[in-house]
Amino acid sequence: MKVGILTLGCKVNTYESEFVISKLMDAGYEIANFNDVCDIYIINTCSVTNTSDVKSRKMIRQAIKKNPNACVVAMGCFVEANHDFRMDGLDIVIGNKDKSKIVELLDQYFTKKEEIRRLYEEEYTAFEDMDIQEFKGRTRAFVKIQDGCENFCNYCIIPYVRGKCRSKEKEKVLQEIRNLVSNGYQEIVLTGIHTGNYGVDLDTNFATLLEEICKIKGLKRLRISSIEITELTDEVLRVIEKYPCIVNHLHIPLQAGSDEVLKRMGRKYDLSYFIEKIEQIRKIRPEISITTDVIVGHPGESEEMFEETLSTCQKIGFSKIHVFPYSLRKGTKSAEMEQIDGKVKKLRAQKLLSLSRKLEECYFQKFLGKKLDVLIETTEDGESFGHTENYLPVKIPEKLQHNTFYPVQIEKIEYPYLWGKTTKKILNR
Ligand code: SF4
Repeated sequence: MKVGILTLGCKVNTYESEFVISKLMDAGYEIANFNDVCDIYIINTCSVTNTSDVKSRKMIRQAIKKNPNACVVAMGCFVEANHDFRMDGLDIVIGNKDKSKIVELLDQYFTKKEEIRRLYEEEYTAFEDMDIQEFKGRTRAFVKIQDGCENFCNYCIIPYVRGKCRSKEKEKVLQEIRNLVSNGYQEIVLTGIHTGNYGVDLDTNFATLLEEICKIKGLKRLRISSIEITELTDEVLRVIEKYPCIVNHLHIPLQAGSDEVLKRMGRKYDLSYFIEKIEQIRKIRPEISITTDVIVGHPGESEEMFEETLSTCQKIGFSKIHVFPYSLRKGTKSAEMEQIDGKVKKLRAQKLLSLSRKLEECYFQKFLGKKLDVLIETTEDGESFGHTENYLPVKIPEKLQHNTFYPVQIEKIEYPYLWGKTTKKILNR
């Protein structure tokens, strides 16, 4: 049977979809394009904003329309946030638990032909073990180590749909990474809803896990997809300082560069704490790339507060800012506050984006003329592309070997890329 899968939202959802695909393939299903006429459609939904809800609903409707006889499955945050959601033609609903039971649930559906609903119950749910051995066509392998969030930021619905913090057992994480490394992956990305919170429910912590991962033979690069500033403890920083396989890039969400807005958002730090930590990180890794997320136009953000965010971002010198115009999410505290005009939000987003571009180019400049190691991800028409450890996107006008490290001399910047030439010697790292 042909299955089309569509994934919306974050890296955790992408990881979970990959796992669903591997389970389906093992069970003999054929994975097809979501736009094809399929026997089964799976939509792994997102609910982070109202717009994500609209999109999730739209994709479910589209799947039903494509083939009214198909079995349509909706899973993930949108259905978890909307337990009453029903649609004619929607056959299986799976929240944020039991995605790994996809094959059994499909078998059950095809035997009984009755609607199935598996939604998350309020009580504590253990970490749902998933294990992926291969990421087809990719050089980077993702490993989900954690789920859930208990921060309850005022604008965010995630703690209500992903539940309490829970972590994958340390030995299972280590084994998954060992398997990926022996399958040829040289770069591993740790993901989670609240990655740095790893271990709060177990007898361990993120620093211990990081250190043990770094000792795995053959692992060349270790990335952390995103980490909260409050989780960069002295212990974590000590591990970062000690192990060069932890890449020179951290993504740390700032969300707002004004104490007043941070307070309204219910974030758990203030600016001086954030800035002090950044200084600490730069002391041990002076050339590190620090990227961030910022929400503009959160309720209560005055022009003055937004200007403060601009100058904070400039002062910190992020190497890239992911800008999100505040998007109202029903069921959150921020949704009850007085909202900011859409045009104002748009204008602020444009201003911050143009600062991000300036900062990014400024960071690129630092590497002109330098020799950097690039892991090749794609080669097409005699041109190769890959990233450096600090996540600089580099193009090389040569046909190079996929999943191989090359030393590249950076010669010019053509935004959004850096261009360079290799010495052709494959790095024996
Ligand atoms: S830390 Fe805040 S923004 Fe991030 S998932 Fe938790 S509640 Fe949402």
